[in-house]
Amino acid sequence: MKLSELKTGDNGIIVKVQGHGGFRKRIIEMGFVKGKKVEVLMNAPLQDPVKYKLMGYEVSLRHQEADMIEVITEEEAHRLKEQQTAVQLQINEEEHQDDYLHHIALQQRRTINVALVGNPNCGKTSLFNYASGAHGHVGNYSGVTVDASEAHASFFGYEFNLVDLPGTYSLSCYSPEELYVREHLTEKTPDIVINIIDASNLERNLYLTTQLVDMNVRMVCALNMYDEFERRGDHVDLKTLSMLFGMPMIPTSFKSGMGVKELFKAVIQVYENTSKTSRHLHINYGHEIEDGIAHIQQYLKADEHIRQRYSTRYLAIKMLENDSHVIDYVEQHMAGEQRSEERKQLMAARVKAAARVLEETKTDAETAIMDAKYGFIHGALKEASYKTGSKEDTYHTTHVIDNVLSNKYFGLPIFFLLLYIMFETTFSLGQYPMDWIEGAVTWLGEKVSGNMPEGPLKAMLVDGVIGGVGSVIVFLPQILILYFFISLMEDSGYMARAAFIMDKLMHKMGLHGKSFIPLIMGFGCNVPAVMATRTIESRRSRIITMMILPFMSCSARLPIYIMIAGTFFSLQYRSWVMLSLYAVGVLMAVIISKIFTSLVIKGEDTPFVMELPPYRWPTPKAIWRHTWEKGKEYLKKMGGIILVASIIVWALGYFPHNEELSNEQQQEQSYIGRMGKAIEPIFMPQGFNWKLDVSLIAGVGAKEIVASTIGVLYSGDDSFGDDEDFSSDNEKYMHLRQLMMKEGITPLAAYAYLIFILLYFPCIATIAAIKNETGSWRWALFAACYTTAVAWIVSMAVYQIGRLFI
Ligand code: GDP
Ligand code: MG
Repeated sequence: MKLSELKTGDNGIIVKVQGHGGFRKRIIEMGFVKGKKVEVLMNAPLQDPVKYKLMGYEVSLRHQEADMIEVITEEEAHRLKEQQTAVQLQINEEEHQDDYLHHIALQQRRTINVALVGNPNCGKTSLFNYASGAHGHVGNYSGVTVDASEAHASFFGYEFNLVDLPGTYSLSCYSPEELYVREHLTEKTPDIVINIIDASNLERNLYLTTQLVDMNVRMVCALNMYDEFERRGDHVDLKTLSMLFGMPMIPTSFKSGMGVKELFKAVIQVYENTSKTSRHLHINYGHEIEDGIAHIQQYLKADEHIRQRYSTRYLAIKMLENDSHVIDYVEQHMAGEQRSEERKQLMAARVKAAARVLEETKTDAETAIMDAKYGFIHGALKEASYKTGSKEDTYHTTHVIDNVLSNKYFGLPIFFLLLYIMFETTFSLGQYPMDWIEGAVTWLGEKVSGNMPEGPLKAMLVDGVIGGVGSVIVFLPQILILYFFISLMEDSGYMARAAFIMDKLMHKMGLHGKSFIPLIMGFGCNVPAVMATRTIESRRSRIITMMILPFMSCSARLPIYIMIAGTFFSLQYRSWVMLSLYAVGVLMAVIISKIFTSLVIKGEDTPFVMELPPYRWPTPKAIWRHTWEKGKEYLKKMGGIILVASIIVWALGYFPHNEELSNEQQQEQSYIGRMGKAIEPIFMPQGFNWKLDVSLIAGVGAKEIVASTIGVLYSGDDSFGDDEDFSSDNEKYMHLRQLMMKEGITPLAAYAYLIFILLYFPCIATIAAIKNETGSWRWALFAACYTTAVAWIVSMAVYQIGRLFI
């Protein structure tokens, strides 16, 4: 807790002093040193300043100053002690109260808050996972981490709170990531920043380091990818480089875990102020800029609030760079304090300094500062005798591969070939485990069926739970195989190329190349696909992508296609029917996104920058984790929403129950049958009958349930839901065909029905995912309604127009 939160008469032990440079030094000099006991003599709310007793004498602090000091109270200490009965402290608490508190405070401050900052793809998440055992997503694909995730790690008796921040190249204010990282560093004030650097790309990566240096954060550098650095035969004198940058630089490889221990050792040393290399550094920007900085800084230093919270040098540099965020912040702050005169002077000083820089260097201040930073880096690298080796480098190989894979002519065909292989393998290879699971589910159903007395409970278990969930779990192998391929493409760096290749086409739809990846994943299951839209930076593109995703026909709809196509179309047309459905889905996605981008969600997109990371051999562990992460979502969906939906659909079909009736008659007079009849008029223009309508209602929960519902309604046979191939059991289809034709379902109506299935309400899990990702029910409900409307219109058009010809 904060020192400022203590009330009059309370005691506390100082744990940490936050804040910057001069302020921090002054506070520490006043005696607010970690481990010391402090008593509040007088602290009335909102009454500045507060009087404290410290080391036997009285001092007073401003409220905001006391805000920057972290303490631990006696109660907290007691609570902590209770939690740690394992640590048997044999102290007489009454007598040695102070010693004891001191001890607990020291323990508390053994928790170090660490932020991971670095360029995209430098290995932040790899370190995060390696150190904490977490399963964050590792991808060779920029922008994978958009929000921050947290985890714990412990090394050498210290606890670390790790925060994995989004990757950034710089700390300007052009992208949400950059602002996010900046805000985190200034608001959350982590104790130590680990700056992760891709050592095989030193010069560019160090640019961010120089910006962190400006911010005056305490930091440790991880020269990651050191394995590649060495393999390439690069060389750099690490000791010199560490010294020049004023921070420990530790060679690491998070792939193998090399250097991780040393890295955390260095973090502890910097935290405890025992590091020899760590020092505060001012990068020299040359006299023109330095003059400007000094001028602006004067005004900032006069403001106590600003001085405590930020490095004034950093703010001055940012203001000189014309950083709109910092300027807004300073202006607003000064306006709030009613110091408009000073504000005017400060802004005038800024303009004057910027003009001077322009005059003297012939470039604007921002560019001049950037040049100076690169100058600094260049100089430091030279001094540390940095040499890139002449041995085979990763980029060389990458360029050779890229010449083929992102070739103007071959790129697209190769990509589609890979897609074809992916889907083909998924469905053919997935068939085997699928059969096994199906067998197991049937076996389980029979076992339960045979061992239980007749009644609603048994019916619910067998038809509702096992039947419903079973028809979904059979898809797990295919989903995993699909995700394995997608992970492989992501981790190797090919996905970035795919997005790159597709970018032009996607732009025609008003989207990004990056939208393409979630769309492809949508063929597997929409739920993880919706989550994958996180990689898209622009919120507008993200939302549009989510809105059109449901048109990517997910694998759950496959059994319905197979069943209906098998029933109504002869063998030679079946594949074409299926293909046409996928094509209609894609076409609708294109049309709708075109409409959305030009009419509904207008606005400019941020310019598209897609970096192409070098190709890498993905590690089996990363691939497995990544595949599993996605598969897990699918399983969760089954355990939750599908289970519930299956039971609801079962119950609606089971009640009111009448033993006398046949399966079909039972369904007809059940609640779901009545619902189907009630909505029958709505689907007259499509030529559906009430039985089809019932299956549509059932599909709202999950598409997997549609086929089995039709099976039950028509013949009391629910094995259709499990069909994966056309070949099996022609008689079954013949029979169903006769039954359906007798009720007036024509092949045309059946096709319209398939179109409706393809386009309408995705499923509850997808809607929930959209709600989570957009953060509002509005978009989720919109997606639910508009897709259904589109489905209704298109299926009606197909039926009505088709009738003119047939
Ligand atoms: P982030 O974007 O900074 O979070 O980077 P990731 O942790 O997602 O890593 C990007 C890619 O670099 C992944 O494919 C990792 O497997 C790979 N990678 C991470 N660390 C190393 C390393 O030390 N050596 C090599 N060769 N590859 C690494
Ligand atoms: Mg990451």
